[in-house]
Amino acid sequence: MENTPPTISDTMFAQIRDKNLFEQAKSYACSYMDNIPFRPVFPAPETLEKLAAFDEALPQQPQPAADALRMLAEYGSPATVAQTGGRYFGFVNGNVIPVALAARWFSDAWNQNAALHVMSPTVAKLEQVCERWLRELLGLPPETVAGFVSGTSIATICGLAAGRHALLKNLGWDVNEDGLFGAPPIRVIVSEQAHSTVFKALSILGLGRKRVELIPADAAGRISVAHLPELDASCLVILQAGNVNSGSFDDFEHICSVAQYTGAWVHIDGAFGLWAAASPNKKRLTQGIEKANSWSADGHKTLNTSYDCGIIFCKDQDALLASMQTTGAYIQYGENRDGMLYTPEMSRRARAVELWAALRFLGGSGAAELVDGLCERAAQFAAELAGNGFRVLNEVVFNQVLVACDTPAETKAVLAGVQASGECWCGMTIWQGQPAIRVSVCSWSTTPDDVQRSVQAFIEARDLAA
Ligand SMILES: *Cc1c(COP(=O)(O)O)cnc(C)c1O
Repeated sequence: MENTPPTISDTMFAQIRDKNLFEQAKSYACSYMDNIPFRPVFPAPETLEKLAAFDEALPQQPQPAADALRMLAEYGSPATVAQTGGRYFGFVNGNVIPVALAARWFSDAWNQNAALHVMSPTVAKLEQVCERWLRELLGLPPETVAGFVSGTSIATICGLAAGRHALLKNLGWDVNEDGLFGAPPIRVIVSEQAHSTVFKALSILGLGRKRVELIPADAAGRISVAHLPELDASCLVILQAGNVNSGSFDDFEHICSVAQYTGAWVHIDGAFGLWAAASPNKKRLTQGIEKANSWSADGHKTLNTSYDCGIIFCKDQDALLASMQTTGAYIQYGENRDGMLYTPEMSRRARAVELWAALRFLGGSGAAELVDGLCERAAQFAAELAGNGFRVLNEVVFNQVLVACDTPAETKAVLAGVQASGECWCGMTIWQGQPAIRVSVCSWSTTPDDVQRSVQAFIEARDLAA
């Protein structure tokens, strides 16, 4: 017999048998974790240049699998941002709880499709448990259902789609069957400080980015109650738990009570702020949220699960399912939870696994401690910056701090210096027409020392800019 070369399947069977690839991946990942405290928070320009190593032509022949891992370790890892360290304060990007990461690794070996119960009884069960636990943790009404999606962008589309359906149904129109052309008008009430993804959702849903009643916000970035128009049963009201700049929370108690009375639908964008409800110390910020109709939140922000872990909660199961429903002859509906009924996607990663692992590890008190810790570090950050002559522009009610220097030019120069220092990383935003540095404390691993060291980086950047 002639020696035939191994087929690609032969090679893959061998990879599964010997596990070397997986041991290697584990080893690279562990070195990465160990190195996090000692590396620049944002990669240096020379490191970024080395990403050019990936600019290869598509290989015409199979390449050694170990090479792919080696390239990731050699060129990929150093050019990542050190988001899993304690000194990354960009956007509202969270760290990852170790057991959530480990559970994700493990469940990646399952490669389950979370669409239907029959595709993965385990994942269907874990989704059900997460739904129940989260309802309890956040104090949402008992009839609330949850869909597990990629993030708040999608969760908000789901919540607004459910609201659009419910409002129009009450007005005698089935939007899912008949579309929006010719439908009775619905009114969209939204704060000028709503997150950009809310406007994206409105445009995708045919409600229009501009065809809204835009309500002014107060100095803290909360929707102004005084400017709220009369609500009625044709209103879709979008509120916010956690302004992405100031961290402020809308007045849910008041607005949701009025909405409930008039039959308006309220959706709360709670991407990172809804988790305040998990802390006895911060719960007052979310007072009244249980009177809303739908809520969106991200596991991958405050809760520190891995990406992509968004959740749509909806009090009206029929409205959500009617809006997300897909049918097909090959779908088997049963007694058991079919996750796809609650989401726009069909095939889905088993993201409930790491969410479940994080929640089980933390428990109620751990979740509260996590939230409180982020808020305490943010308060420390604000106090130390203010003590060193920086201007803190917001009342720090949650995990967000807005900082400025004496002039816009100085603010920009200091931020550039901070970003280049590798000591910590923050982003820029515009607050009340002026550039501001946004500090978002969103990592479980940020210690008081990390905050001190980061404030020092601000001071040094200011000295250099002077
Ligand atoms: C992050 C964020 C979003 C978008 O969430 P994704 O998970 O990135 O899709 C929406 N609203 C607010 C307030 C956010 O902070």
